[in-house]
Amino acid sequence: MEEIIVIGHKNPDTDTVISSVVLSGIMGWKPGRAGEINKETEFVLNHFGLSSPELITNATGRKIFLVDHNEAAQIVDGHEEAEIVGILDHHKVQFSSSRPLYIHIEPLGSTASLIAKLYMEKIRLNPAWAGALLGAIMSDTVIFKSPTTTDEDKKIAGELAEIAGIGDVAAFGLEVKKANASLSGKSIEEIVGADYKDFDMSGKKVGIGQTEVVDAAEVAAKRDEIITYIDTLKSSGGYEMVIFAATDIINEGSELFFSGDKSVIEKAFGVNIPDGERSVRIPGLMSRKKQIVPPLEEVIKISRAPIV
Ligand code: MN
Ligand code: MN
Repeated sequence: MEEIIVIGHKNPDTDTVISSVVLSGIMGWKPGRAGEINKETEFVLNHFGLSSPELITNATGRKIFLVDHNEAAQIVDGHEEAEIVGILDHHKVQFSSSRPLYIHIEPLGSTASLIAKLYMEKIRLNPAWAGALLGAIMSDTVIFKSPTTTDEDKKIAGELAEIAGIGDVAAFGLEVKKANASLSGKSIEEIVGADYKDFDMSGKKVGIGQTEVVDAAEVAAKRDEIITYIDTLKSSGGYEMVIFAATDIINEGSELFFSGDKSVIEKAFGVNIPDGERSVRIPGLMSRKKQIVPPLEEVIKISRAPIV
């Protein structure tokens, strides 16, 4: 029988990789990843003695099961010539297919929560899988600080912590987040590109990168480099807009750097940005999915609407 590869989105984050590892483990499938592992994911894998999935650079001719994404722009290269057999996700649906397939999407804080919810009562999750799923929940929900967090995530996290023998969930969460939260020693490509996603908004290409920091001074020190880099990305990549969010997980808010029409940012986030400014701080902004993408889509859609 032809092997099914469980694979997450490009620029893999912890939720995407751990979801692939655990779901493939449960189902007897093969784990795959569509890009390099970041330091946070490496910390979680190592902490629980799990191996990194195999790097899949092109999925042409393979059977793939998608976790933690469903937008074409984020799927592994070659997916047009692959057979997508299923999707398990917690993002908005932006997927179409010419044949029926298994799709399960719930508005939870992470795909890891969904996997735990679906399988925790059916099979005995081993402590390593439970701990890794907990790490992925802590990562995606930013230690429950992200507005994407639901009561169900917290309940599931508590159950996973018990199986994994982790007493202090918040302390473990901070340990996970800190593994990738320093900008020092990283190139600007790594800082902006490690968690970077392309979006199609009313036919316009929008790129949004995000990084989490525990020290805002590190962001200030990189300011000029960040601006130059997103300007280069915008002009070379055919973008309408490129945004980079430096999210302060301690003080809860984001510095939004932008390359593109300032008025779009002002309308989307309800702020005034002085001429010449290339970033704006938005208190409480933690989630790209819930707090950046929807308001931007709305503003870009309206600005593209025909004038009647
Ligand atoms: Mn993800
Ligand atoms: Mn996720």
